[in-house]
Amino acid sequence: KKNMRKKIVAGNWKMNMNLQEGVALAKELNEALTADKPNCDVIICTPFIHLASVAQILDKDVIGLGAENCADKEKGAYTGEVSAEMVKSTGAQYVILGHSERRGYYGETSEILKEKTLLALKNGLKVIFCIGESLEEREANKQNEVVKAELEGSVFNLTAEEFKNIVIAYEPIWAIGTGKTATSEQAEEIHAYIRSIIAEKYGEDVANETSILYGGSCKASNAPELFAKEDIDGGLIGGASLKATDFKGIIDAWK
Ligand code: PGA
Repeated sequence: KKNMRKKIVAGNWKMNMNLQEGVALAKELNEALTADKPNCDVIICTPFIHLASVAQILDKDVIGLGAENCADKEKGAYTGEVSAEMVKSTGAQYVILGHSERRGYYGETSEILKEKTLLALKNGLKVIFCIGESLEEREANKQNEVVKAELEGSVFNLTAEEFKNIVIAYEPIWAIGTGKTATSEQAEEIHAYIRSIIAEKYGEDVANETSILYGGSCKASNAPELFAKEDIDGGLIGGASLKATDFKGIIDAWK
């Protein structure tokens, strides 16, 4: 592709794999990708408990590491929470924020996500910020409205300089884990819209440098078509990131 944007394939393990299984997958992936170097940035986002161990395994120049969440408070008496600083101290460089499962099951509002984003950036983490509409909203043709509100409520409060540390992941909720992928045309249409509102807010240069990933039943068989679209800069991968061969199949779509 002609544009100079960073191409990214990121895995989101979600609540899968115990420590031993996660370590084994990280090793397998690290071996596969150091032997056959990817043509894009590769990131794996794991449960908190895997981070420190997986950080020891990965060749940082080949695979980045991220968490799937962090706290909206800096430190202190918040039993069970994990702060952005703690995530950073494991060796991770990224954090996913705003995933629809966090918004939907754990009540994460735009206001909370705004705080989490600020703390992540303050602690030197890059943020993979997820947005996306439900099936009901898509059927009512409200997808543009929804993603705009999600951006305005959280990451559009950042300065242009801060926003450069944000990767956007567009994930239509109806496509997540359902086997039902957005068509490449549907995805491109909304990615282009997202880029246009980033341009309105931060200018063309920032918009042209922002990577916008697609997520939702992305796999090796549909990745090439999705990634060929002008405004789709890679994928955020759930189910297909849990096996090294499946995940590598998606990464190889950039070759
Ligand atoms: P999926 O999940 O690839 O399993 O659909 C994507 C995501 O939720 O990030």
